[in-house]
Amino acid sequence: KQYLEESSERKRLYNEVIELKGNIRVFCRCRPLNQAEIANGCASVAEFDPTQDNDLQILSSDSSKKHFKFDHVFKPEDGQDTVFAQTKPIVTSVLDGFNVCIFAYGQTGTGKTFTMEGTPENRGVNYRTLEELFRCSESKSHLMKFELSVSMLEVYNEKIRDLLVDNSNQPPKKLEVKQSAEGTQEVPGLVEAQVYNTDGVWDLLKKGYCVRSVGSTAANEQSSRSHCLLRVTVKGENLINGQRTRSHLWLVDLAGSERVGKVEVEGERLKESQFINKSLSALGDVISALASKTSHIPYRNSKLTHMLQNSLGGDCKTLMFVQISPSSADLGETLCSLNFASRVRGIESGPARKQA
Ligand code: ADP
Repeated sequence: KQYLEESSERKRLYNEVIELKGNIRVFCRCRPLNQAEIANGCASVAEFDPTQDNDLQILSSDSSKKHFKFDHVFKPEDGQDTVFAQTKPIVTSVLDGFNVCIFAYGQTGTGKTFTMEGTPENRGVNYRTLEELFRCSESKSHLMKFELSVSMLEVYNEKIRDLLVDNSNQPPKKLEVKQSAEGTQEVPGLVEAQVYNTDGVWDLLKKGYCVRSVGSTAANEQSSRSHCLLRVTVKGENLINGQRTRSHLWLVDLAGSERVGKVEVEGERLKESQFINKSLSALGDVISALASKTSHIPYRNSKLTHMLQNSLGGDCKTLMFVQISPSSADLGETLCSLNFASRVRGIESGPARKQA
């Protein structure tokens, strides 16, 4: 009984916050300058306010400063722990029955995969999320029974590929988004692997990442030009009142957002970049339509947004990481990404803040 009261109080408070702030958050993460950039004499164009953690200034080429505000700004020295501490409340709400979507957006090389997938020594949001979901479900096990399962897929040129199926010896199975009898969007035939503990999860994630990278070497670094999605399905049963819930958490490493130079754009590359532009702008349109509470939400304009339809909007929670490079050489792309992120959040960038 106490749990039910606490849970309904949590939902009430959450709804109050939604009224005030909306349920779309944007976090910005800036990676450190790398060795090559330092060797080439690239300077950092990103300035952070030491007294605030939601503020960023970018030094433009004409020496003017552009000011951006997000829900949180992570500095180059902020590690995976710091990033996950801010992300945790959003991901764990899937256990309360919310659908959640988390995206990493930005130019190739800015740390999208580092944030989501991480490295074996520095694991990212994906693994940490599952670890936390196991921990929380364990601590609630006297009140709730949870079943967790995982799917991994890639969207490349508007085609869906199952990453939990090794397709090296056979042509990949064709997967499509279909509407179920209950009116939800499903991907029939997609493997959904039940997971029981963190060891099992790490093995499964490694398998998916491996299938993805094998495909990518064959198709010339395809991975930066495809969207990689990890879907966690949580089935919950309330042991007190028997109520059942089913919710999805999507963790998405998006294709690189960079504009492709005119010279390179031909043949396969042209097709790829058109598909990427289409799906990233469709995603931006959907999130900004949700942020401005427009009645028509254009989910059907890309496979990505169509597939995520039930987890974007309504009382679903959305978080976008806009990943940026601090390097002066990437200034143009950095400003494009920050403007895109400001637009999806419905917040405009402003002039430079006054110096203290
Ligand atoms: P993307 O997925 O956007 O193409 P990656 O995640 O592959 O970018 O990152 C490019 C390189 O930068 C990788 O070697 C990665 O380990 C490193 N990197 C990215 N972000 C960080 C960070 N915050 N701290 C340290 N290294 C980082």
